[in-house]
Amino acid sequence: MIFGDRPMLIGGAFATASAGAWITSLNPATEEPIGRVPAGTKDDVMRAVAVAADAQPSWNERSIWERGALLRKLAARFRSNAAEILKMEATDTGNTIAKLRADVEIAAGYLEYFAGLATEMKGDTVPASPRGIHFTLREPYGVVGRIVPFNHPFMFAAAHLAAPLTAGNTVVIKTPETSPLSGHLLAQACADVLPPGVVNIVSGYGMPVGDALVRHPGVRRIGFTGSAATGMAIQRAAAETCVKHVSLELGGKNPLIVFPDADVVKAVDATVAGMNFSWAGQSCGSTSRLLVHESLYAKAVELLTAKVAALKVGDPLDAASEMGPVNSAAHFKRVMSFIEAGKAEGTRLMTGGGRPAGAQFQRGYWIAPTVFADVTPTMKVGREEIFGPVVSAIKWSTVDEVIGIANGTDYGLTAAVFTNDITAALSTARRIDAGVVAINSSNMHFVGLPFGGFKNSGVGGEECLEELLSYTQVKAVHIQMTPGR
Ligand code: NAD
Repeated sequence: MIFGDRPMLIGGAFATASAGAWITSLNPATEEPIGRVPAGTKDDVMRAVAVAADAQPSWNERSIWERGALLRKLAARFRSNAAEILKMEATDTGNTIAKLRADVEIAAGYLEYFAGLATEMKGDTVPASPRGIHFTLREPYGVVGRIVPFNHPFMFAAAHLAAPLTAGNTVVIKTPETSPLSGHLLAQACADVLPPGVVNIVSGYGMPVGDALVRHPGVRRIGFTGSAATGMAIQRAAAETCVKHVSLELGGKNPLIVFPDADVVKAVDATVAGMNFSWAGQSCGSTSRLLVHESLYAKAVELLTAKVAALKVGDPLDAASEMGPVNSAAHFKRVMSFIEAGKAEGTRLMTGGGRPAGAQFQRGYWIAPTVFADVTPTMKVGREEIFGPVVSAIKWSTVDEVIGIANGTDYGLTAAVFTNDITAALSTARRIDAGVVAINSSNMHFVGLPFGGFKNSGVGGEECLEELLSYTQVKAVHIQMTPGR
Protein backbone atom coordinates (compact mmCIF):
# COMPACT_ATOMS: atom_id res chain seq x y z
CA MET A 1 0.00 0.00 0.00
CA ILE A 2 1.80 3.08 -1.23
CA PHE A 3 0.60 5.45 1.45
CA GLY A 4 0.67 2.97 4.38
CA ASP A 5 -1.09 3.54 7.70
CA ARG A 6 -2.25 7.08 8.43
CA PRO A 7 -3.20 7.57 12.10
CA MET A 8 -5.52 10.18 13.61
CA LEU A 9 -4.45 13.22 15.66
CA ILE A 10 -5.70 13.50 19.24
CA GLY A 11 -4.15 15.92 21.70
CA GLY A 12 -1.06 16.51 19.55
CA ALA A 13 -0.23 12.80 19.29
CA PHE A 14 -0.90 10.36 16.47
CA ALA A 15 -3.40 7.72 17.49
CA THR A 16 -4.90 4.46 16.30
CA ALA A 17 -8.54 3.64 17.02
CA SER A 18 -9.46 2.46 20.53
CA ALA A 19 -10.92 -0.77 19.08
CA GLY A 20 -7.88 -1.30 16.85
CA ALA A 21 -9.86 -1.49 13.58
CA TRP A 22 -8.79 0.16 10.31
CA ILE A 23 -10.47 1.36 7.12
CA THR A 24 -8.62 0.47 3.93
CA SER A 25 -8.78 3.11 1.24
CA LEU A 26 -8.92 1.99 -2.40
CA ASN A 27 -7.61 3.85 -5.43
CA PRO A 28 -10.86 4.56 -7.33
CA ALA A 29 -9.00 4.34 -10.65
CA THR A 30 -7.77 0.77 -10.05
CA GLU A 31 -9.55 -0.56 -6.92
CA GLU A 32 -6.14 -1.29 -5.40
CA PRO A 33 -5.62 -0.71 -1.63
CA ILE A 34 -3.44 2.37 -1.15
CA GLY A 35 -3.50 3.06 2.58
CA ARG A 36 -5.39 2.74 5.86
CA VAL A 37 -6.87 5.05 8.48
CA PRO A 38 -8.13 4.08 11.93
CA ALA A 39 -11.84 3.24 12.16
CA GLY A 40 -12.47 5.65 15.02
CA THR A 41 -14.93 4.90 17.83
CA LYS A 42 -17.17 6.82 20.20
CA ASP A 43 -14.37 6.58 22.79
CA ASP A 44 -11.95 8.22 20.36
CA VAL A 45 -14.42 11.07 19.88
CA MET A 46 -14.84 11.46 23.66
CA ARG A 47 -11.05 11.63 24.02
CA ALA A 48 -10.68 14.14 21.18
CA VAL A 49 -13.38 16.41 22.58
CA ALA A 50 -11.85 16.22 26.07
CA VAL A 51 -8.39 17.32 24.89
CA ALA A 52 -9.93 19.98 22.66
CA ALA A 53 -11.84 21.33 25.67
CA ASP A 54 -8.62 21.37 27.75
CA ALA A 55 -6.74 23.23 25.03
CA GLN A 56 -9.46 25.82 24.31
CA PRO A 57 -9.00 28.35 27.17
CA SER A 58 -5.30 28.91 26.47
CA TRP A 59 -5.92 29.03 22.71
CA ASN A 60 -8.55 31.71 23.31
CA GLU A 61 -6.22 33.61 25.64
CA ARG A 62 -3.73 34.11 22.84
CA SER A 63 -4.19 37.41 21.02
CA ILE A 64 -5.82 37.41 17.60
CA TRP A 65 -2.37 38.30 16.24
CA GLU A 66 -0.75 35.22 17.76
CA ARG A 67 -3.55 32.99 16.52
CA GLY A 68 -3.36 34.65 13.11
CA ALA A 69 0.41 34.13 12.90
CA LEU A 70 -0.04 30.41 13.61
CA LEU A 71 -2.77 30.12 10.98
CA ARG A 72 -0.51 31.82 8.43
CA LYS A 73 2.29 29.42 9.37
CA LEU A 74 -0.10 26.52 8.78
CA ALA A 75 -1.02 27.98 5.38
CA ALA A 76 2.67 28.15 4.47
CA ARG A 77 3.04 24.50 5.50
CA PHE A 78 0.23 23.51 3.13
CA ARG A 79 1.93 25.32 0.26
CA SER A 80 5.36 23.86 0.93
CA ASN A 81 3.82 20.38 1.17
CA ALA A 82 1.54 20.83 -1.87
CA ALA A 83 3.19 18.18 -4.06
CA GLU A 84 2.70 15.43 -1.48
CA ILE A 85 -0.85 16.52 -0.66
CA LEU A 86 -1.87 16.65 -4.33
CA LYS A 87 -0.42 13.27 -5.21
CA MET A 88 -2.15 11.59 -2.29
CA GLU A 89 -5.43 13.45 -2.83
CA ALA A 90 -5.61 12.71 -6.59
CA THR A 91 -4.81 9.04 -5.99
CA ASP A 92 -7.29 8.68 -3.14
CA THR A 93 -10.22 10.73 -4.53
CA GLY A 94 -9.91 10.28 -8.32
CA ASN A 95 -10.02 14.07 -8.76
CA THR A 96 -7.73 15.14 -11.60
CA ILE A 97 -4.48 16.71 -10.52
CA ALA A 98 -4.40 19.70 -12.88
CA LYS A 99 -7.45 21.37 -11.30
CA LEU A 100 -6.85 19.89 -7.84
CA ARG A 101 -3.85 22.20 -7.39
CA ALA A 102 -6.30 24.95 -6.51
CA ASP A 103 -7.51 23.02 -3.44
CA VAL A 104 -4.29 23.56 -1.50
CA GLU A 105 -4.22 27.22 -2.46
CA ILE A 106 -7.89 27.67 -1.45
CA ALA A 107 -7.25 26.06 1.94
CA ALA A 108 -4.14 28.20 2.55
CA GLY A 109 -5.99 31.31 1.34
CA TYR A 110 -8.87 30.71 3.77
CA LEU A 111 -6.51 30.49 6.73
CA GLU A 112 -4.93 33.78 5.71
CA TYR A 113 -8.27 35.45 4.95
CA PHE A 114 -9.84 34.56 8.29
CA ALA A 115 -6.63 35.39 10.18
CA GLY A 116 -6.82 38.88 8.66
CA LEU A 117 -10.51 39.21 9.43
CA ALA A 118 -10.12 38.72 13.18
CA THR A 119 -10.64 42.38 14.12
CA GLU A 120 -14.07 42.21 12.48
CA MET A 121 -15.36 40.00 15.32
CA LYS A 122 -16.76 43.24 16.70
CA GLY A 123 -19.60 43.92 19.04
CA ASP A 124 -21.96 46.91 19.03
CA THR A 125 -22.47 49.78 21.44
CA VAL A 126 -26.16 50.59 21.77
CA PRO A 127 -27.56 53.79 23.39
CA ALA A 128 -30.16 51.76 25.25
CA SER A 129 -30.37 53.97 28.38
CA PRO A 130 -29.29 57.54 29.22
CA ARG A 131 -26.93 56.66 32.08
CA GLY A 132 -25.73 53.27 30.96
CA ILE A 133 -23.27 51.82 28.51
CA HIS A 134 -24.58 48.81 26.66
CA PHE A 135 -22.40 46.75 24.40
CA THR A 136 -22.01 43.30 22.94
CA LEU A 137 -19.04 40.94 22.97
CA ARG A 138 -18.38 38.02 20.68
CA GLU A 139 -17.10 34.90 22.36
CA PRO A 140 -16.14 31.45 21.04
CA TYR A 141 -18.37 28.42 21.58
CA GLY A 142 -15.54 26.27 22.95
CA VAL A 143 -15.12 23.02 21.02
CA VAL A 144 -16.38 22.98 17.43
CA GLY A 145 -17.08 19.81 15.43
CA ARG A 146 -16.57 19.94 11.67
CA ILE A 147 -17.62 17.02 9.46
CA VAL A 148 -16.17 16.70 5.98
CA PRO A 149 -17.42 15.02 2.73
CA PHE A 150 -15.42 12.89 0.31
CA ASN A 151 -15.18 15.14 -2.72
CA HIS A 152 -12.48 17.58 -1.52
CA PRO A 153 -11.35 16.03 1.76
CA PHE A 154 -8.14 18.03 2.25
CA MET A 155 -9.52 21.36 1.12
CA PHE A 156 -12.68 21.17 3.23
CA ALA A 157 -10.95 19.84 6.36
CA ALA A 158 -8.17 22.43 6.15
CA ALA A 159 -10.23 25.44 5.06
CA HIS A 160 -12.90 24.74 7.65
CA LEU A 161 -10.40 25.16 10.47
CA ALA A 162 -9.90 28.79 9.67
CA ALA A 163 -13.06 30.45 10.98
CA PRO A 164 -13.50 28.47 14.23
CA LEU A 165 -9.82 28.76 15.16
CA THR A 166 -9.71 32.48 14.43
CA ALA A 167 -12.70 32.92 16.73
CA GLY A 168 -10.86 31.19 19.60
CA ASN A 169 -12.48 27.75 19.41
CA THR A 170 -10.65 24.46 19.25
CA VAL A 171 -11.75 21.91 16.68
CA VAL A 172 -12.45 18.21 16.22
CA ILE A 173 -12.60 17.26 12.55
CA LYS A 174 -14.22 14.08 11.29
CA THR A 175 -12.74 13.06 7.95
CA PRO A 176 -14.75 11.10 5.30
CA GLU A 177 -14.59 7.30 5.24
CA THR A 178 -13.70 7.17 1.56
CA SER A 179 -10.61 9.14 0.46
CA PRO A 180 -9.60 9.81 4.08
CA LEU A 181 -5.81 9.66 3.67
CA SER A 182 -5.00 13.36 3.22
CA GLY A 183 -6.52 13.97 6.65
CA HIS A 184 -3.25 12.61 7.98
CA LEU A 185 -1.19 15.18 6.07
CA LEU A 186 -3.36 17.85 7.63
CA ALA A 187 -2.80 16.19 11.01
CA GLN A 188 0.99 16.31 10.49
CA ALA A 189 0.88 20.00 9.62
CA CYS A 190 -1.33 20.81 12.63
CA ALA A 191 0.88 18.73 14.96
CA ASP A 192 3.95 20.67 13.79
CA VAL A 193 2.45 24.15 13.91
CA LEU A 194 -0.34 24.33 16.51
CA PRO A 195 -0.37 23.66 20.26
CA PRO A 196 -1.56 20.14 21.17
CA GLY A 197 -5.33 19.69 21.26
CA VAL A 198 -6.18 22.82 19.25
CA VAL A 199 -6.98 20.68 16.18
CA ASN A 200 -7.89 17.01 16.52
CA ILE A 201 -8.64 14.78 13.56
CA VAL A 202 -10.71 11.64 13.98
CA SER A 203 -11.19 9.26 11.05
CA GLY A 204 -13.98 6.71 10.68
CA TYR A 205 -17.54 6.15 9.57
CA GLY A 206 -20.46 8.52 10.02
CA MET A 207 -21.79 5.99 12.52
CA PRO A 208 -20.27 6.01 15.14
CA VAL A 209 -17.72 8.85 14.72
CA GLY A 210 -19.77 11.64 13.10
CA ASP A 211 -22.80 10.80 15.22
CA ALA A 212 -20.81 10.77 18.48
CA LEU A 213 -19.37 14.20 17.64
CA VAL A 214 -22.82 15.59 16.83
CA ARG A 215 -24.33 14.18 20.02
CA HIS A 216 -21.48 15.18 22.35
CA PRO A 217 -22.90 17.64 24.90
CA GLY A 218 -19.56 19.45 25.06
CA VAL A 219 -19.70 20.37 21.36
CA ARG A 220 -22.22 23.20 21.02
CA ARG A 221 -21.31 24.20 17.47
CA ILE A 222 -21.33 21.80 14.52
CA GLY A 223 -20.37 22.74 10.96
CA PHE A 224 -21.35 20.07 8.46
CA THR A 225 -20.69 19.69 4.73
CA GLY A 226 -22.33 16.72 3.02
CA SER A 227 -25.66 15.38 1.81
CA ALA A 228 -29.09 16.72 2.72
CA ALA A 229 -30.11 13.36 4.20
CA THR A 230 -27.13 13.37 6.59
CA GLY A 231 -27.69 17.07 7.35
CA MET A 232 -31.23 16.31 8.50
CA ALA A 233 -30.01 13.33 10.56
CA ILE A 234 -27.48 15.65 12.20
CA GLN A 235 -30.13 18.23 13.07
CA ARG A 236 -32.22 15.47 14.68
CA ALA A 237 -29.31 13.89 16.55
CA ALA A 238 -28.01 17.24 17.82
CA ALA A 239 -31.46 18.17 19.10
CA GLU A 240 -31.76 14.89 21.00
CA THR A 241 -28.76 15.86 23.15
CA CYS A 242 -28.95 19.59 23.81
CA VAL A 243 -29.39 22.92 22.04
CA LYS A 244 -26.69 23.40 19.42
CA HIS A 245 -25.84 25.76 16.62
CA VAL A 246 -25.69 23.55 13.51
CA SER A 247 -24.75 24.98 10.12
CA LEU A 248 -25.19 22.86 7.00
CA GLU A 249 -23.63 23.06 3.53
CA LEU A 250 -25.56 20.46 1.56
CA GLY A 251 -26.30 19.28 -1.95
CA GLY A 252 -27.78 20.90 -5.03
CA LYS A 253 -29.57 20.23 -8.31
CA ASN A 254 -28.42 23.46 -9.81
CA PRO A 255 -30.17 24.99 -12.83
CA LEU A 256 -28.40 26.91 -15.59
CA ILE A 257 -31.11 28.82 -17.45
CA VAL A 258 -30.56 29.86 -21.06
CA PHE A 259 -32.81 32.64 -22.37
CA PRO A 260 -33.62 32.96 -26.10
CA ASP A 261 -31.24 35.93 -26.60
CA ALA A 262 -28.27 34.23 -24.92
CA ASP A 263 -24.98 33.28 -26.52
CA VAL A 264 -25.60 29.54 -26.62
CA VAL A 265 -21.92 28.65 -27.07
CA LYS A 266 -20.96 30.57 -23.93
CA ALA A 267 -23.88 29.07 -22.03
CA VAL A 268 -22.85 25.53 -22.95
CA ASP A 269 -19.19 26.27 -22.13
CA ALA A 270 -20.32 27.54 -18.72
CA THR A 271 -22.42 24.41 -18.18
CA VAL A 272 -19.45 22.15 -18.87
CA ALA A 273 -17.13 24.29 -16.72
CA GLY A 274 -19.76 24.46 -13.97
CA MET A 275 -20.26 20.70 -13.94
CA ASN A 276 -16.78 20.29 -12.47
CA PHE A 277 -15.98 17.19 -14.48
CA SER A 278 -12.47 17.40 -12.98
CA TRP A 279 -14.09 15.84 -9.89
CA ALA A 280 -16.39 13.68 -12.04
CA GLY A 281 -19.27 16.06 -11.34
CA GLN A 282 -19.03 15.27 -7.62
CA SER A 283 -19.55 18.89 -6.75
CA CYS A 284 -22.36 20.47 -4.75
CA GLY A 285 -22.48 23.39 -7.19
CA SER A 286 -22.52 21.31 -10.40
CA THR A 287 -24.66 22.81 -13.16
CA SER A 288 -26.47 19.52 -13.53
CA ARG A 289 -29.72 20.90 -15.01
CA LEU A 290 -29.37 22.80 -18.28
CA LEU A 291 -32.69 24.57 -18.83
CA VAL A 292 -32.77 25.90 -22.40
CA HIS A 293 -35.42 27.96 -24.18
CA GLU A 294 -37.06 25.93 -26.96
CA SER A 295 -35.60 28.23 -29.65
CA LEU A 296 -32.02 27.25 -28.70
CA TYR A 297 -32.63 23.79 -27.31
CA ALA A 298 -31.54 21.66 -30.28
CA LYS A 299 -28.36 23.71 -30.76
CA ALA A 300 -27.53 23.64 -27.05
CA VAL A 301 -27.96 19.86 -26.83
CA GLU A 302 -25.76 19.37 -29.92
CA LEU A 303 -23.00 21.62 -28.55
CA LEU A 304 -23.21 20.13 -25.06
CA THR A 305 -23.03 16.57 -26.36
CA ALA A 306 -19.98 17.32 -28.51
CA LYS A 307 -18.16 19.08 -25.69
CA VAL A 308 -18.92 16.46 -23.04
CA ALA A 309 -18.09 13.57 -25.38
CA ALA A 310 -14.69 15.19 -26.10
CA LEU A 311 -13.63 15.35 -22.43
CA LYS A 312 -10.41 13.42 -21.86
CA VAL A 313 -11.13 10.75 -19.26
CA GLY A 314 -7.96 9.27 -17.79
CA ASP A 315 -5.48 8.75 -14.97
CA PRO A 316 -6.13 11.38 -12.27
CA LEU A 317 -2.35 11.85 -11.89
CA ASP A 318 -1.93 12.74 -15.59
CA ALA A 319 -2.02 16.53 -15.95
CA ALA A 320 -3.79 16.14 -19.30
CA SER A 321 -6.76 14.23 -17.84
CA GLU A 322 -10.00 16.20 -17.62
CA MET A 323 -11.94 13.61 -15.64
CA GLY A 324 -11.11 10.62 -13.46
CA PRO A 325 -13.27 7.93 -11.84
CA VAL A 326 -15.99 8.56 -9.28
CA ASN A 327 -14.92 8.24 -5.69
CA SER A 328 -15.92 4.77 -4.47
CA ALA A 329 -17.67 1.51 -5.30
CA ALA A 330 -20.80 2.60 -3.43
CA HIS A 331 -20.89 5.92 -5.23
CA PHE A 332 -20.31 4.22 -8.61
CA LYS A 333 -23.36 2.07 -7.93
CA ARG A 334 -25.41 5.09 -6.90
CA VAL A 335 -24.53 7.17 -9.98
CA MET A 336 -25.10 4.18 -12.27
CA SER A 337 -28.55 3.66 -10.74
CA PHE A 338 -29.43 7.24 -11.72
CA ILE A 339 -28.14 6.60 -15.25
CA GLU A 340 -30.27 3.47 -15.51
CA ALA A 341 -33.27 5.44 -14.22
CA GLY A 342 -32.62 8.09 -16.88
CA LYS A 343 -32.55 5.46 -19.60
CA ALA A 344 -35.73 3.84 -18.28
CA GLU A 345 -37.59 7.15 -17.89
CA GLY A 346 -37.63 7.85 -21.63
CA THR A 347 -34.88 10.46 -21.92
CA ARG A 348 -32.58 10.65 -24.95
CA LEU A 349 -29.09 9.44 -23.98
CA MET A 350 -26.76 11.66 -26.04
CA THR A 351 -23.38 10.43 -24.81
CA GLY A 352 -21.92 8.33 -21.99
CA GLY A 353 -24.32 6.19 -20.01
CA GLY A 354 -21.86 3.63 -18.65
CA ARG A 355 -18.17 2.79 -18.42
CA PRO A 356 -15.98 4.48 -21.05
CA ALA A 357 -14.64 2.19 -23.79
CA GLY A 358 -11.08 0.92 -23.26
CA ALA A 359 -9.48 -1.85 -21.22
CA GLN A 360 -8.14 0.59 -18.60
CA PHE A 361 -11.70 1.65 -17.66
CA GLN A 362 -13.15 -1.80 -17.01
CA ARG A 363 -11.74 -1.95 -13.47
CA GLY A 364 -12.13 1.02 -11.14
CA TYR A 365 -15.08 3.37 -10.73
CA TRP A 366 -15.11 4.89 -14.20
CA ILE A 367 -18.27 6.42 -15.64
CA ALA A 368 -18.21 8.21 -18.99
CA PRO A 369 -19.40 11.82 -18.87
CA THR A 370 -23.09 11.60 -19.68
CA VAL A 371 -25.73 13.85 -21.26
CA PHE A 372 -29.44 13.15 -21.14
CA ALA A 373 -31.71 15.23 -23.38
CA ASP A 374 -35.49 15.56 -23.28
CA VAL A 375 -35.50 15.28 -19.51
CA THR A 376 -38.63 16.49 -17.75
CA PRO A 377 -38.66 18.08 -14.31
CA THR A 378 -40.53 15.17 -12.75
CA MET A 379 -37.98 12.53 -13.81
CA LYS A 380 -35.48 11.27 -11.25
CA VAL A 381 -32.55 12.61 -13.31
CA GLY A 382 -34.33 15.95 -13.61
CA ARG A 383 -35.06 16.33 -9.93
CA GLU A 384 -32.59 14.53 -7.65
CA GLU A 385 -28.93 15.27 -6.98
CA ILE A 386 -26.80 12.68 -8.81
CA PHE A 387 -23.41 14.02 -7.65
CA GLY A 388 -21.76 12.49 -10.69
CA PRO A 389 -20.78 13.27 -14.31
CA VAL A 390 -24.35 13.55 -15.61
CA VAL A 391 -26.05 16.60 -17.16
CA SER A 392 -29.80 16.70 -17.81
CA ALA A 393 -31.04 19.03 -20.58
CA ILE A 394 -34.60 20.31 -20.15
CA LYS A 395 -36.61 22.44 -22.63
CA TRP A 396 -38.82 25.39 -21.64
CA SER A 397 -41.09 27.90 -23.38
CA THR A 398 -42.10 30.65 -20.93
CA VAL A 399 -40.27 32.47 -18.17
CA ASP A 400 -42.84 31.52 -15.54
CA GLU A 401 -42.44 27.89 -16.59
CA VAL A 402 -38.64 27.92 -16.27
CA ILE A 403 -38.74 29.64 -12.89
CA GLY A 404 -41.16 26.93 -11.77
CA ILE A 405 -38.80 24.23 -13.04
CA ALA A 406 -35.73 25.88 -11.49
CA ASN A 407 -37.45 26.19 -8.11
CA GLY A 408 -39.21 22.84 -8.39
CA THR A 409 -36.71 20.73 -6.45
CA ASP A 410 -36.05 20.51 -2.73
CA TYR A 411 -32.63 22.08 -3.28
CA GLY A 412 -31.57 25.71 -3.61
CA LEU A 413 -27.79 25.95 -3.68
CA THR A 414 -26.68 27.69 -6.89
CA ALA A 415 -28.27 28.84 -10.14
CA ALA A 416 -27.02 30.48 -13.32
CA VAL A 417 -28.82 32.69 -15.83
CA PHE A 418 -27.66 33.37 -19.39
CA THR A 419 -29.19 36.43 -21.06
CA ASN A 420 -28.14 39.88 -22.24
CA ASP A 421 -31.44 41.37 -21.08
CA ILE A 422 -30.62 43.05 -17.77
CA THR A 423 -34.23 43.06 -16.63
CA ALA A 424 -34.68 39.36 -17.35
CA ALA A 425 -31.36 38.60 -15.62
CA LEU A 426 -32.12 40.55 -12.47
CA SER A 427 -35.75 39.55 -12.15
CA THR A 428 -34.78 35.90 -12.60
CA ALA A 429 -32.03 36.28 -10.01
CA ARG A 430 -34.67 37.65 -7.62
CA ARG A 431 -37.18 34.88 -8.32
CA ILE A 432 -34.77 31.92 -8.00
CA ASP A 433 -34.68 30.15 -4.64
CA ALA A 434 -30.92 29.66 -4.36
CA GLY A 435 -28.15 30.97 -2.15
CA VAL A 436 -25.88 31.85 -5.09
CA VAL A 437 -26.96 33.14 -8.52
CA ALA A 438 -24.45 33.69 -11.34
CA ILE A 439 -25.37 35.82 -14.35
CA ASN A 440 -23.61 34.89 -17.61
CA SER A 441 -21.21 32.61 -15.70
CA SER A 442 -21.45 29.54 -13.52
CA ASN A 443 -20.35 28.12 -10.21
CA MET A 444 -18.91 31.29 -8.72
CA HIS A 445 -17.03 31.36 -5.42
CA PHE A 446 -15.45 34.58 -4.22
CA VAL A 447 -13.91 34.86 -0.80
CA GLY A 448 -15.82 37.56 1.03
CA LEU A 449 -19.25 36.62 -0.39
CA PRO A 450 -21.42 33.97 1.22
CA PHE A 451 -21.61 30.49 -0.27
CA GLY A 452 -24.54 28.56 1.11
CA GLY A 453 -27.92 27.16 0.23
CA PHE A 454 -31.63 27.79 0.58
CA LYS A 455 -34.16 25.03 1.34
CA ASN A 456 -32.57 21.55 1.65
CA SER A 457 -29.24 22.91 0.43
CA GLY A 458 -28.42 24.18 3.87
CA VAL A 459 -28.26 26.92 6.46
CA GLY A 460 -25.47 29.43 6.98
CA GLY A 461 -23.21 31.18 4.49
CA GLU A 462 -19.51 30.30 4.41
CA GLU A 463 -16.34 31.77 2.88
CA CYS A 464 -17.13 35.23 4.31
CA LEU A 465 -17.43 37.29 7.50
CA GLU A 466 -20.76 35.57 8.26
CA GLU A 467 -18.88 32.27 8.62
CA LEU A 468 -16.41 33.77 11.10
CA LEU A 469 -19.17 35.40 13.16
CA SER A 470 -21.12 32.13 13.17
CA TYR A 471 -18.34 30.60 15.26
CA THR A 472 -18.96 33.22 17.96
CA GLN A 473 -21.85 33.73 20.34
CA VAL A 474 -22.99 37.20 21.33
CA LYS A 475 -23.10 38.41 24.91
CA ALA A 476 -24.78 41.70 25.90
CA VAL A 477 -23.07 43.66 28.72
CA HIS A 478 -24.84 46.49 30.58
CA ILE A 479 -22.90 49.02 32.68
CA GLN A 480 -24.94 51.30 34.88
CA MET A 481 -22.91 54.45 35.70
CA THR A 482 -25.38 55.90 38.20
CA PRO A 483 -28.09 54.12 40.12
CA GLY A 484 -31.39 53.72 38.25
CA ARG A 485 -31.93 53.70 34.54
P1 NAD B 1 -22.49 12.32 3.35
O1 NAD B 1 -23.58 13.14 3.91
O2 NAD B 1 -22.76 10.90 3.02
O3 NAD B 1 -21.22 12.31 4.31
C1 NAD B 1 -20.58 13.50 4.71
C2 NAD B 1 -19.86 13.25 6.02
O4 NAD B 1 -20.83 12.99 7.03
C3 NAD B 1 -18.93 12.04 6.00
O5 NAD B 1 -17.78 12.36 6.74
C4 NAD B 1 -19.75 10.98 6.70
O6 NAD B 1 -18.98 9.98 7.32
C5 NAD B 1 -20.49 11.81 7.74
N1 NAD B 1 -21.71 11.19 8.24
C6 NAD B 1 -22.49 10.25 7.65
N2 NAD B 1 -23.54 9.96 8.45
C7 NAD B 1 -23.42 10.72 9.56
C8 NAD B 1 -24.21 10.88 10.74
N3 NAD B 1 -25.34 10.19 10.92
N4 NAD B 1 -23.80 11.77 11.66
C9 NAD B 1 -22.70 12.51 11.46
N5 NAD B 1 -21.91 12.39 10.39
C10 NAD B 1 -22.27 11.51 9.43
O7 NAD B 1 -21.98 13.12 2.06
P2 NAD B 1 -20.85 12.68 1.02
O8 NAD B 1 -21.42 11.59 0.17
O9 NAD B 1 -19.55 12.52 1.69
O10 NAD B 1 -20.74 14.04 0.15
C11 NAD B 1 -21.59 14.32 -0.89
C12 NAD B 1 -22.63 15.34 -0.50
O11 NAD B 1 -22.02 16.49 0.05
C13 NAD B 1 -23.42 15.82 -1.71
O12 NAD B 1 -24.77 15.90 -1.38
C14 NAD B 1 -22.84 17.19 -1.95
O13 NAD B 1 -23.68 18.06 -2.68
C15 NAD B 1 -22.54 17.67 -0.56
N6 NAD B 1 -21.55 18.76 -0.56
C16 NAD B 1 -21.97 20.03 -0.28
C17 NAD B 1 -21.06 21.09 -0.32
C18 NAD B 1 -21.49 22.52 -0.05
O14 NAD B 1 -20.63 23.36 0.17
N7 NAD B 1 -22.77 22.83 -0.07
C19 NAD B 1 -19.74 20.84 -0.63
C20 NAD B 1 -19.33 19.53 -0.90
C21 NAD B 1 -20.26 18.50 -0.85
